[in-house]
Amino acid sequence: MTRKNNIWQFLDTLNKYELANFYFYKYETFMENSQKIIDDYFLNKNMSKDKIKELVEEHKNMAKYEKYIRKDCCPQCYSLKKVKTKQLWCPLGNNGIAVQLDNERIMIDVEDCLICGYKFSNLNRPAKKDNWIIKLLKPDVS
Ligand SMILES: [Zn+2]
Repeated sequence: MTRKNNIWQFLDTLNKYELANFYFYKYETFMENSQKIIDDYFLNKNMSKDKIKELVEEHKNMAKYEKYIRKDCCPQCYSLKKVKTKQLWCPLGNNGIAVQLDNERIMIDVEDCLICGYKFSNLNRPAKKDNWIIKLLKPDVS
C-alpha cells in the first residue's frame, strides 16, 4: 500500500469535525510529502482552510453546550479516539533539565489523541503503576 493510500484511508475514517481538527492541530507535524497528500485529500473534499477553521470553531461551540462530551475525551478536540505508543521516558532533575540515564532506556506506554495529537501522558511523570521506576531512579532524580 502506498503512503497516499495509507493516509487517505485513515482520513476516510474521520467525520468532518475530526478532519478539521486533524488538519488544524496536526498538519504542521507532517513532512512535506505527507502534507501534499493531505492537501490533496482536503482539496478533493472541497474543504478549504477557511472551512476547516469554521468547523473547528463550530465544534468547540458545540462542545460548550452539548452534553455528549465525555469526561475522558481529549480536552483539545473532544475526540475519544486515542492511540497508544511506547516512548522513551525522560525524567527531569531538580534543575528542570532531563536526567541522563546511563545506558538505561525506560520505555513507557503513552496515550496520544489520534485526531489532534494531544498528549494524555506526561513523559516526565510516569503513571501511578510505574512508581517503581521513580524508586529505582531516586538517586538520580532527587
Ligand atoms: Zn484531540
